[in-house]
Order: sequence, then structure tokens, then C-alpha cells
Amino acid sequence: MERTYIMIKPDGVQRGLIGEIVKRFEQKGYKLVAMKLWSPPREFMEKHYADLSSKGFFAGLINYMVSGPVVSMVWEGANAVLEGRKMLGATKPSDSAMGTIRGDFCVEVGRNICHGSDSVESANAEIELWFPEGISEWESCESTWIYE
Ligand code: UDP
Ligand code: MG
Repeated sequence: MERTYIMIKPDGVQRGLIGEIVKRFEQKGYKLVAMKLWSPPREFMEKHYADLSSKGFFAGLINYMVSGPVVSMVWEGANAVLEGRKMLGATKPSDSAMGTIRGDFCVEVGRNICHGSDSVESANAEIELWFPEGISEWESCESTWIYE
């Protein structure tokens, strides 16, 4: 089973989309194993996006990401990293298919409401960064109805 780090960005929180985004991952059949709402300091957000620090949009991205609380989550399930990215849609909302979270709920790349890990390696690193306290292991009663 894979785990992926999914984050609802400040605009997603402000726009009342927490429930909708959580609902989609639950209904897909993934299992929530960690979740918190909080406002990490700027340095923390810069660490999360360190690989983008040379980009022209970096300062604006960090300002956006510390403009309000975010919801940090870890979702677990088969192919959760790639499937999670598909559920979010393309980075640019205008490239995102309708039916995806970004395709359905946002317009601009700089306000694209959600984050998802882009590989198993970055998922592991992001889970360690965002949840140093660890995740909750639990058995879902749905598992035999989701997996054969
Ligand atoms: N971003 C932006 N302008 C760009 C590219 C990216 O503001 O031209 C922001 C956008 O919020 C994106 C985040 O930077 O979600 C991280 O970029 P990345 O390429 O990692 O996209 P993601 O993995 O979020 O799809
Ligand atoms: Mg990324």
C-alpha cells in the first residue's frame, strides 16, 4: 500500500472546500491515516517547496501558502501517489480535466487549492516533514469491499 501527502491550501480552506476534497478521497476508497489543520511558519513552507526556490513564482507561492491555515493529510491505498495526482488534476487548472478537484473548483495556477506528492520518494519525505509525530495505523472495515 502506498501513502501520499495531500494538502488543502489556504484558498481551499477559505473557500469551504475541505469537506469536498476529503469526501473525494474517502469515496475513492482511500484511507485517511493522518490529518491536521494548522499554519506552519514561512521557513517550514520554504522547506516543503525547496525544489522550486529558484523559480520566479517562488516568493508569491510562499506568500500564498502562508496566507492562512492549511489542512495536511496522509491518504493510504493502492497507487495512492499517482491516483491522488489524477484526482487533483493538472498543476494549471486550465489544463485540468473537469471532474478533477482543480478542474472543478479553481481557475488560476497560483490559487490551485490543493497539493499532492508527485512520487513515492517525495511522498515519504513530505510525510516525514509534515507528520514527524507519525501517522495512525488502523484497519478499515471497508477494505475487503475495496480490495479483492
Ligand atoms: N505554481 C505557480 N506558478 C507556476 C507553477 C506552479 O504559482 O507557474 C505553484 C502552484 O500553486 C503549484 C505549486 O507552485 O501547485 C507547486 O508547483 P509544482 O510544479 O510542484 O506543481 P504541483 O506539484 O502542485 O502540481
Ligand atoms: Mg509539486
